[in-house]
Amino acid sequence: MDRKSFLKTSLAGAAALAAASTGLLACTSQAPAGKKNDTRLHLSFQEGTAPGETLEEKLDFMEELGIEGFEPGGGSLASRVNEISQALSGRNIRVSAICAGFDGFILAREASVKASFDSTMRQIVRAAGELGSTGVIMVPAFNWQDEVGLPHTMETRDYLCEQLHSLGEFALSCGTTVILEPLNRREAFYLRLVSDAAAICRDADSAGVRCMGDFWHMQEETSDYAAFISAKDYLQHVHIASRGRRIMPGEDGEKDNYVEGFRALKEIGYPNFVSFECGCEGERASTVRAAVSLLREQWEQA
Ligand code: MG
Repeated sequence: MDRKSFLKTSLAGAAALAAASTGLLACTSQAPAGKKNDTRLHLSFQEGTAPGETLEEKLDFMEELGIEGFEPGGGSLASRVNEISQALSGRNIRVSAICAGFDGFILAREASVKASFDSTMRQIVRAAGELGSTGVIMVPAFNWQDEVGLPHTMETRDYLCEQLHSLGEFALSCGTTVILEPLNRREAFYLRLVSDAAAICRDADSAGVRCMGDFWHMQEETSDYAAFISAKDYLQHVHIASRGRRIMPGEDGEKDNYVEGFRALKEIGYPNFVSFECGCEGERASTVRAAVSLLREQWEQA
């Protein structure tokens, strides 16, 4: 390239850059400070969260608190489709995500373990579709599965994306998705960051492969805000717990700050659920009520 064409290219580049930055300014100025964001907080409970002996009692408690989602475990879900549909009929609560429950794992080295994952996961995905669930949560490999799983190589990641593609397409055909959950390093080195899970979703290249963030495991992240922003449209579910001991939000006092994460969820217009996955130290009914109030306050602040 001679100097003349170099200058021409650079000038065109500079003009494009100037146009782009004007565009950027225009975009950011579309949301003036103080403008009310109307993205709503949709809370969900796992089956053990609400007090009550029976599913009906738990759902009554949830409905009274305005909880909109119910996250059952995936184990024996297929045999519970009627029970759950009937229990939710006529209520303002729907199934949110389904929490795992399959046998085996997707990166198993042994063919029989992988086959067991494939059949049980697909059975849960089918039931999840019948229940109108947002997706079935899965972890590619826990630390304890490393020695019986595929090595962490580039080939393994390619294989994971291929396998997820076909699983995602199957989930879509059932009207639902599969949701990758990053955990913390003590549980799963393989997948620890929300942005990495989102990149796997992109590379799996199926709208049926989505990811989530769990405020407990997100101790791995340097920023709750950046983590959710990086996942954006791939973000299908969120788990929440207190941030010191994984009990009810608020039971760890000052540590239980979700405002930055919530701000990101509001900015991306996150349409899905924030679901309780946690223990409880105090008296359950009052502790759960206090946790729900705390989250609603922090959502307002965000
Ligand atoms: Mg979780």
